[in-house]
Amino acid sequence: MKAEILDGKRVAAEIRAEVAKSVEQFVASGAPAPCLTAVLVGEDPASQVYVRNKARACEKAGIEGRTHRLPVDAGQKELLALVNELNTDANVNGILVQLPLPAGHDYDEREILDAIDPLKDVDAFSPINVGLLMQGRPRFLPCTPHGIVQLLHRSGISTSAKKVCVIGRSEIVGKPMAMMLAQKSGSCGPDVANATVTLAHSRTADLAATCRDADILIAAVGRPKMITGDMIKPDAVVIDVGINRVDDKLVGDVDFDAAAEIASAITPVPGGVGPLTIAMLLHNTLMAAKLQTGR
Ligand code: NDP
Repeated sequence: MKAEILDGKRVAAEIRAEVAKSVEQFVASGAPAPCLTAVLVGEDPASQVYVRNKARACEKAGIEGRTHRLPVDAGQKELLALVNELNTDANVNGILVQLPLPAGHDYDEREILDAIDPLKDVDAFSPINVGLLMQGRPRFLPCTPHGIVQLLHRSGISTSAKKVCVIGRSEIVGKPMAMMLAQKSGSCGPDVANATVTLAHSRTADLAATCRDADILIAAVGRPKMITGDMIKPDAVVIDVGINRVDDKLVGDVDFDAAAEIASAITPVPGGVGPLTIAMLLHNTLMAAKLQTGR
């Protein structure tokens, strides 16, 4: 295999240790431990695992991780009321509503996310935080793209003047990723900016040629192994965000074996981008606590 493996697990552990140390200092200054509250609606097994993992990661970092569970049919009104209650609870620093909300129960995801106090919006999904990011003066950075920025930076990979192709334009990964890498300044991480970014999606004409032109290829699609070896420029850096379950195994959006023979560096699935998302959530929760207490 030619490519260097970008070890997201190792970088995430490094970031989590840094956050834990900062939390310790924060608490030593007389502040209460930061508190992240997750809201889980329904019984979706994957969401339950995600919320449990987040609570465990909080605990290890010295952050209080709470979970509010609502029955699947609680309804929009009750969920909104809970979000508003958490907004005004001074003991809660970060609020996270686990997505997706149960299908077929008439939840309005956008209305819920809009209701979260922007100072407690540790996922960075509120229009205020998205707007600040767009203007190059972010408050919270969305966790998955921020994790990727940290992985690139800590692996010594500069994005400046590079051609980057992001495949996928979701609000939580693709779109903010493209925006962060296109920033003029290093407001989203040192030396991780100033890229020439192409944002590809399902209507992109000749996706293969678009991908082959990229020095850094970031796949956030949700289709197992759709990025094949012939879509990768020799020596490109490949970041695979995709998490797809196939035959009870997790695979990415990239055909890893083929890509690893062509790329200069690549993230594995699992063990690449995934662990970084939770690490950046902890980072944002500490930041929220600092913002709210003025420390
Ligand atoms: P979405 O389903 O919201 O978005 C998928 C994007 O891929 C859309 O923009 C869509 O285009 C595009 N797309 C779909 N099919 C094609 C195609 N054939 N060619 C080109 N583009 C296509 O997904 P998410 O962004 O939420 O997630 C993407 C993947 O990342 C998933 O596997 C998810 O599980 C994973 N993920 C991983 C995280 C982590 O921590 N590692 C965190 C979040 C997500 P269009 O807009 O035109 O429909």
